[in-house]
Amino acid sequence: MSKNTDKASAGTQTKPLRFVVIGAGMAGILGAVKLQDAGFTDFTVYEKAGGFGGTWRENTYPGVACDVPSHLYSYSFAPNPNWSHVFSPGQEILSYFEDVARTRGVEEHVKFNTGIRRIEFRDGRWRIETEHGEEDEADFVIAATGVLHHPSYPNIEGLEDFDGPLFHTARWDHSVSLEDKRVGIIGTGSSSVQIVSDLAGKVPELHLFQRTPQWVMPTPNPEIDSATQELYRDDPEVMRAVRENLAQTFADNFASAVVDAESPQLAMLQQMCEANLGTVTDPELREQLRPDYRAACKRLVMSPNFYEAMQDPSVSLVTEKISRIEAKGIRTVDGELHELELIVLGTGFRVDRFMRPIEVVGRDGVALDDVWAERPSGYLAISIPEFPNLFMLNGPNGPVGNFSLIDVAELQFDYIMQLVELVRAGRCQEVSVTHKAADRFEEERVEAAKNTVWMTGCRSWYLDDRGVPAAWPWAFGRFRDEMAKPKLEDYELTP
Ligand code: NAP
Repeated sequence: MSKNTDKASAGTQTKPLRFVVIGAGMAGILGAVKLQDAGFTDFTVYEKAGGFGGTWRENTYPGVACDVPSHLYSYSFAPNPNWSHVFSPGQEILSYFEDVARTRGVEEHVKFNTGIRRIEFRDGRWRIETEHGEEDEADFVIAATGVLHHPSYPNIEGLEDFDGPLFHTARWDHSVSLEDKRVGIIGTGSSSVQIVSDLAGKVPELHLFQRTPQWVMPTPNPEIDSATQELYRDDPEVMRAVRENLAQTFADNFASAVVDAESPQLAMLQQMCEANLGTVTDPELREQLRPDYRAACKRLVMSPNFYEAMQDPSVSLVTEKISRIEAKGIRTVDGELHELELIVLGTGFRVDRFMRPIEVVGRDGVALDDVWAERPSGYLAISIPEFPNLFMLNGPNGPVGNFSLIDVAELQFDYIMQLVELVRAGRCQEVSVTHKAADRFEEERVEAAKNTVWMTGCRSWYLDDRGVPAAWPWAFGRFRDEMAKPKLEDYELTP
């Protein structure tokens, strides 16, 4: 617990503050728990959907799992001895979040089915308007709106013409039976890879339409046996040590690898991916699956069994470009019609949305849509000039990809609470990052991005419209250091 929260529980609160948290996914639940821990009770979490869990509520496709180990992809304050696998399935992750929300009293603060339409900073407070026209006010708004939740629909001719069911991976229609279907999946990102790995052999035919091959990191996914679970229950310190160990391993290896294209760690990742590809026995298929860019240039795909699935007789890889979708299936540019009964769009997400489509209006009528007209940005991924007392969790250009976004959000939240403390202690009324600091940060970030593997020649969702990775381009240690204590000279503290 931080110094600030200690103070709060000791009852030194000087100014009552009200908070609004937007979103009840991983980060929103985290925000609610930590607000309570810091002694704040006056807050509402607005959630547009009918339940907790954000991405884990939305993504229910077959094989959905988190490819960050479960003991790392857990809140530090809510370790879970019961994880079933090293990489546990999505349903289990969703239950975990629901459980934390319930046991930590988050439920009573949430308004479900209540999207926010507009927020405006006026006369020193945020004025909130919901989609139903309800109004609210708050001293602080915490945007916990997620990163990957606006499906990206491909610009493929004939999308409307298909006779059968067609849906995005994040909008899985469970009323559609699978076992009698010839299934086509467009895209080879992490979502599609998980689906293919799960469905191979369970459906009569599975056709994977690949525009770009992926490097796939082998990640065995053993069950965690009951004796180990019991050990974790009996001795939470052991479990905590496992988490620490995983966090350190990720920071030292993966995180260092991606931000330094010349690092030995990256060379090792490359070797592991190549060896994994080597397990494909048919040389033609192996070459079709071989990327022509470096491992981890795109967000690295992790899978225990993707190549095994690709070699299942029910699965075929289509590398011809898609020409159009027709009533009976997908036609490729070579003229062949691949007859299908179900099409799944594994085509990813619009990653530049963040809080939007919420209309966000800052000081003196400044509209976020204008500030972000070219692309979203945020000082340390948290704060935007002219938007005082508004903070983002997992905002633009933060650590993304194969990190635990839980760790990221926890560090961010503790940082934000240090800024909140300035207001609570009466040092100021408004906290907003200065233009100078935000511009400097952005310049340094863009410069540092040049050394990352993400800029070594591939197309990926990391890259913004200029081809600059919209991500944290430094080691994770630097993020930790930045989050440890705000540099107050970078903030405007308005009395
Ligand atoms: P994605 O990585 O953005 O992949 C989208 C795929 O669709 C790519 O293969 C892309 O091809 C293809 N595509 C897009 N438009 C197309 C078109 N018009 N025609 C043909 N192909 C098209 O999406 P995702 O798989 O949903 O994953 C998104 C992110 O979600 C991941 O990178 C990861 O961060 C996160 N995720 C995480 C997990 C996890 O386990 N933690 C699981 C799933 C997803 P190109 O490569 O050629 O662009």
